[in-house]
Amino acid sequence: MASYDVIVIGSGPGGYVAAIRCAQLGLKTACVEGRDTLGGTCLNVGCIPSKALLHSSHMLHEAEHNFAKMGLKGKAPSVDWKEMLAYKDDVIGQNTKGIEFLFKKNKIDWLKGWGSIPEAGKVKVGDDTHESKNIIIASGSEASSVPGADVTIDEKIVVTSTGALELPKVPKKMVVIGAGVIGLEMGSVYARLGTQVTVVEYLDHITPGMDGEVQKNFQKLLKKQGLEFVMGSAVTSVETLKTKAKVNYKLRKDDSEHQLDADVVLVATGRKPYTDGLGLDALGIELTKGGQIKTDEHWQTNVKGIYAIGDAITGPMLAHKAEDEGMAAAEVIAGKHGHVNYNVIPSVIYTHPEVAAVGQTEEQLKDEGRAYKVGKFSFMGNGRAKAVFAGDGFVKLIADKETDRILGCHIIGPSAGDLIHEVCVAMEFGASAEDLALTCHAHPTFSEAVREAALACGDGPIHS
Ligand code: FAD
Repeated sequence: MASYDVIVIGSGPGGYVAAIRCAQLGLKTACVEGRDTLGGTCLNVGCIPSKALLHSSHMLHEAEHNFAKMGLKGKAPSVDWKEMLAYKDDVIGQNTKGIEFLFKKNKIDWLKGWGSIPEAGKVKVGDDTHESKNIIIASGSEASSVPGADVTIDEKIVVTSTGALELPKVPKKMVVIGAGVIGLEMGSVYARLGTQVTVVEYLDHITPGMDGEVQKNFQKLLKKQGLEFVMGSAVTSVETLKTKAKVNYKLRKDDSEHQLDADVVLVATGRKPYTDGLGLDALGIELTKGGQIKTDEHWQTNVKGIYAIGDAITGPMLAHKAEDEGMAAAEVIAGKHGHVNYNVIPSVIYTHPEVAAVGQTEEQLKDEGRAYKVGKFSFMGNGRAKAVFAGDGFVKLIADKETDRILGCHIIGPSAGDLIHEVCVAMEFGASAEDLALTCHAHPTFSEAVREAALACGDGPIHS
């Protein structure tokens, strides 16, 4: 048995970042992880492996569609799926080992095994019970099933994103249930590899919560890439045969019943908090109706000394949100002032083109009755984007009509996930659209499109 200042349960981006910050602030820290490797969902079966496959499949797409246009002639590469998976696994390994290195460097003990909290101030891992002045729960999330439908996930034919990241072969036909971020990213990967991908979505639009104009454009571009969509449809059941599945769904507008064949069905209907085995009930820790751990503004639960962060609590289920909470909770425990600005958390979809957003949408502002103005600029007017066949998409900057203060930004286009950050910084500083418009941007860069959108909030862009 050992005694610590802080024990973190879970080593995902929330947990490992919290542990590192605690150690940096001089607190004796341990982190419990039940998986064989550190890094949580994000590094093992989430952000990182999906981005590796998005990258390799995008390279194939470039070779097939754009190389010849630049005078790069010859046969397009063929797919060695096993090697592609090996590349993905290598990327995972480099990242998870990196966290192990950082734990050693910061003298953080990795308590291997599944942890529970028998009482405040104690964490049990296997047969050992450790004492800790503070406990941070960062136990993350798991995939949800299809609400109200008869669907059994076997991770072979009917898979979550975890199974989709290690299919034994590239399927001929895939049905994706749910047109959210994970479904569209994984759907894009397989569509580029030659799979016939059909996305079945309950709502009439893709990517709920996103700017309406971006949703429409994004869906159009994905259709151009070969993804098919069945919108406004509720999946009722999935029947699995030996190597195939049948997806039954009802069109919501007329209740008519339909069926789709698939070799693989990806259930991508969202994620729910994972808190199994922690002993929260016995501790009396309060949960929301959705099963998230309730915390106050300092990430402390209703039990003193027990904190919670990341996917296990409310808010967007994003790695960087979990990381920010991890740092902030560590700072609070160390007696400092931890802070997360929930109004400036970017979200990104890593398809091609990428989609990124921060702040409010037009729809939200209309609901609030707030007067705003929109500055929009198409990547067709951006020289760099045209040079690399990436003219599809636009930057849409939204600013307060009176004060010109930036309220949100929605980008679909090349490197949108990187471009969004200059707007995040601007928003953190309470900048106006004019502040961005007056900032010199290097030419030729995709970033110029952000500046042009800012100019469009004022006297107008130059290149449109
Ligand atoms: P997790 O990363 O879920 O980590 C929790 C860890 O706790 C796990 O390793 C688990 O084994 C461990 N654990 C749980 N209970 C216990 C216990 N009792 N004892 C010991 N260990 C325990 N987000 C982005 O921001 N960008 C992306 O591009 C992105 N892509 C994604 C792609 C996919 C396919 C998926 C599934 C998710 C993606 N996400 C992405 C979401 C992101 O992975 C999560 O938001 C993030 O991992 C949450 O971090 P966390 O630290 O809260 O929990």
